[in-house]
Amino acid sequence: MSEQNTVLEQLLAQALTEVKTDDLKTLNDVRVKYLGKKGPIQEAMKAMKDLAPEERKAFGQLVNTVKSEIAEAVEAQTTALEQAAIVQRLANETIDITLPARHLHTGGVHPLQQVVDDITQFFRSMGYEAAEGPEVETDFYNFEMLNLPHDHPARDMQDSFYVDPHRLLRTHTSGVQARTFEARGEDQLPIKVICPGKVYRRDDDDATHSHQFMQIEAFIVDENVSMANLKGTLQALARHLFGSDREIRLRPSFFPFTEPSVEVDVSCAKCNGTGCNVCKQTGWIEILGAGLIHPNVLTMTGFDTEKVSGFALGMGVERIAMLKYGIEDIRHFYVNDVRFLQQFKR
Ligand SMILES: [Zn+2]
Repeated sequence: MSEQNTVLEQLLAQALTEVKTDDLKTLNDVRVKYLGKKGPIQEAMKAMKDLAPEERKAFGQLVNTVKSEIAEAVEAQTTALEQAAIVQRLANETIDITLPARHLHTGGVHPLQQVVDDITQFFRSMGYEAAEGPEVETDFYNFEMLNLPHDHPARDMQDSFYVDPHRLLRTHTSGVQARTFEARGEDQLPIKVICPGKVYRRDDDDATHSHQFMQIEAFIVDENVSMANLKGTLQALARHLFGSDREIRLRPSFFPFTEPSVEVDVSCAKCNGTGCNVCKQTGWIEILGAGLIHPNVLTMTGFDTEKVSGFALGMGVERIAMLKYGIEDIRHFYVNDVRFLQQFKR
């Protein structure tokens, strides 16, 4: 009897050693080898019938203990191996979350709007308020109130697109002047307004002209406004836009709504005034038109020109942007070519 017990204990020890494999298939082979129908446990069960009845019970218990210990060991090892396999797989399939994120495409502010924002900010810093007017303007505000009566030849300079005989797409932002003067009057001085917006003219489209473009107008009405005030403002504006060592030059000109009128040139930033292809060898670049507001314009809206005066200046936003960024063709601004626009992304 004790001999059989020793055999069973050796069998158990042997089985527990073999169970410690790290291969699931081998483990299954071990299970079949010890617990299968032709295995030693089954053989031992069969052998029980040859034992004396008083020995059978104790032996049977021993066989069952050995059997269940082997079965438990196999079960435990199976679970362990399956767990290890899962852990291994998770480790192999880990997603590297430290990779840079996919590029997210975002828009930017259009270069023309950047110039508008910049100039508006400049004038706001000097106490101007921003105003807007309608793009479909009446003949009255677009021309008549700016000293351009019906038969005035200067109307031909900026003929436009008429919606009906009395309304047109505005040819300049100056219509905002008369509208503002009417709304404010002499008891609300000073009037200091900056007015950016789209304007329309029947120009041929070429590299520097478009039938639609943007303008910024600034005007001021107060007591004792003089050419000196205008010149100081223009100088500060030119230096803000093109660099602190720029000079300006005023040339006499004509606009129906200002008197005197001037064209404003800024010294070329590229050659510093010595002459280059940008300034066409002159050392100067024309940037805008300006002047003291014509007394007729002020009188028409009820101002007493003995008491008040004012100046106005207007510039093409595209022209400023082209000079500032070295752009050779105005049409680049309107075709939405991302390669062009991306260069101005802040
Ligand atoms: Zn130059």
